[in-house]
Amino acid sequence: MINIPKGTKDVLPSQVYLWQHIENAARAAAESYGFREIRTPVFEHTELFSRGVGEASDVVTKEMYTFLDKGGRSITLRPEGTAGVARAFVENGLQGGAMPFKAYYLYSAYRYERPQAGRLREFHQFGAELYGSPSPLADAEAISLADSFLKGLGLTSSLHINSIGCPVCRAKYHEALKEYFRPHLSAMCEDCKTRFEKNPLRMLDCKEEECKKIAAGAPRILDYLCEECGAHFEEVKRLLTAAGVSYTVDPLIVRGLDYYSRTVFEFVSEAAGAQGTVLAGGRYDGLLSEIGAKPTPAVGFAAGLERLLMVLKAEGKELPAPPSTMCYVAGLDGASRETAFLLANRLRALGVSCETDLMERSLKAQMKYADKLGVRFVAVVGEEERKKEAAQVKDMVASTSEEVPFISLAEYILGKYSKS
Ligand code: ATP
Ligand code: MG
Repeated sequence: MINIPKGTKDVLPSQVYLWQHIENAARAAAESYGFREIRTPVFEHTELFSRGVGEASDVVTKEMYTFLDKGGRSITLRPEGTAGVARAFVENGLQGGAMPFKAYYLYSAYRYERPQAGRLREFHQFGAELYGSPSPLADAEAISLADSFLKGLGLTSSLHINSIGCPVCRAKYHEALKEYFRPHLSAMCEDCKTRFEKNPLRMLDCKEEECKKIAAGAPRILDYLCEECGAHFEEVKRLLTAAGVSYTVDPLIVRGLDYYSRTVFEFVSEAAGAQGTVLAGGRYDGLLSEIGAKPTPAVGFAAGLERLLMVLKAEGKELPAPPSTMCYVAGLDGASRETAFLLANRLRALGVSCETDLMERSLKAQMKYADKLGVRFVAVVGEEERKKEAAQVKDMVASTSEEVPFISLAEYILGKYSKS
């Protein structure tokens, strides 16, 4: 027997409705803000991610699923959704189209990580991207969409925001960080020693306890913002307050990917412990030029669906009931089984979901199966019923039984459903 690869999960038919619940909430929220779905390939040229996500990021240095295809090209399974959307936006000439451009995606993503609760090698994300607007209104709109999606799911999470400035103010901040970290460097992890050289900002995001303790005393980016970045951040905060979205400013948020500038944010749930960040995003004005396109301001976010599901369960939220089939059509003998089979098709065409006997079982066994399915109605067809062209309909909830002509069966069932 061959097992599932480490860090991946099956979603079984009995559980998939919970995923659909989250996906439907995502689609509804995004569409209500005028975002439309985009679908891009699962794999891209490796260079898109190494340049887009950033050479120094954990994702690119350690986590990518990269391989040579049979043509000798370096291909990578997408570790996130943003770079592929950016490529599609440029490649399809949308940079010259109507602005802002707004798109959302529901994607699988792949990262070679140490599997644990809420951390998988294949996981799923809902993401939204908005191109073309440098205005704080765009930041506020992305955050507001994220907030309304999470609230729509009934989730309690808190919004943490920060600004990591632009390349100009960040250069000064990098110097300040280096000055602060230099004397502590020997006590820090190997990754942080590399980050010190390549991107000291990333040292604030280290998950090692010792490094975290040291990082807590580091200078704060907010004290180093240039005038424009400072004003942009103030305006984002003001708009959020006006929109009734509460937040805390958290100067330690820097995000794991390299393309962010100015606003960064995370929605954190207390219920999920260490993997509590359910949704994260920010402004990424630098990404488009990073992948060789005309610079275009952008802002977006991604939410991990596995983590959302984990948090929804941990918070004890009322989840939707699993869907159930309305009717089971039972056949008593060979000929009746065929009538039941055809009757089921007729009912489906009229909007009644139903099942019928495919196992050629006894009525008793069929009733047991119908009970397991949780159907509300069982329509029994035998020789007598065939002659009368009417089924014996059992209401499994009310424990009643009634004869209903085949011709009015759909109307009968739908009528009862609409009343309950
Ligand atoms: P973390 O700091 O937890 O590693 P990240 O910065 O790598 O997160 P992003 O790249 O911003 O995360 O991805 C956005 C969201 O996707 C995360 O907030 C999380 O909910 C989810 N996510 C990221 N990596 C994984 C994973 N390996 N398994 C499951 N969900 C993930
Ligand atoms: Mg990560």
